[in-house]
Amino acid sequence: MNVQIGFHVSIAGGLQNAVDNASKIGCNAFQIFTRNPRGWAEKVLNARDVQMFKLKLRHSGINSDAVAVHMPYLPNLSAPTGELYKKSIDSLISELHRCFQLEIPNLVVHLGSHLGSGPQNGIDQLVNSVNTATDHSKSSRRKNGKVIILLENSAGQKNSIGSKLEDIKSILDKISSKNVGICMDTCHAFAAGYDLRSEKKNDDFVDKFDSIIGLEKLRLIHLNDSEKELGSHIDRHEHIGLGKIGVKGMSAILKNRKLKGKPIIMETKEDSVRNNLDNLRVALELANS
Ligand SMILES: [Zn+2]
Ligand SMILES: [Zn+2]
Repeated sequence: MNVQIGFHVSIAGGLQNAVDNASKIGCNAFQIFTRNPRGWAEKVLNARDVQMFKLKLRHSGINSDAVAVHMPYLPNLSAPTGELYKKSIDSLISELHRCFQLEIPNLVVHLGSHLGSGPQNGIDQLVNSVNTATDHSKSSRRKNGKVIILLENSAGQKNSIGSKLEDIKSILDKISSKNVGICMDTCHAFAAGYDLRSEKKNDDFVDKFDSIIGLEKLRLIHLNDSEKELGSHIDRHEHIGLGKIGVKGMSAILKNRKLKGKPIIMETKEDSVRNNLDNLRVALELANS
């Protein structure tokens, strides 16, 4: 398979299990949380787990460029100044540190919510939080190489930051570190109003992305179909091809020449309809059709 594709996988029982969870169904890309994503509490990573993870990843044959950490859910990097904002920056610093430890070069961050303080204020807070965290990690970077913060486009839910390509561009321009890129989620883009349902619409979107942001900034694709309609601003992932983007749209994304070589992560649920292996089979069929 010439495409780098996989899933968000569980770390239950230890971080190193994520590598097996990805490998056993044939993924050559994967994403993890380094800890419980629904709480603030975090334990320092155990040195042995870190060692095991790196060893397993090396032996798996999976290219580390196709491995990503996703930030936990509670931090809000666009929040107004206060306790939540401070904890959110600390959390970003901590996840960056964990990426350096695990030698995972991609950290996906949600752009957060301005909580009613206004989009411009939210953007300023977000830029400040990323600048603060990257400044803080300068010495780790010198020692341990690169970790790129990947800003993920949002579905445009109420008060959210970063659903429009122009907004993401203006955020990128204000961040001082060069170690920042984009993770593009197809479900979020569709929910934000970017039509992806045909080859033509897809080409238009990718060209627009290229002219506004630049495709070289795109380091990761979250390939998710959407349960909700175009422009719904609701973030609900659907199995590949079974949602409103549909088979034609998903296939067009997978076959788009300009996206070739970009690692792909699916964040689809596992239920009575499909599990990860089923979605992987469908995606590979579409990619090779
Ligand atoms: Zn996503
Ligand atoms: Zn989502």
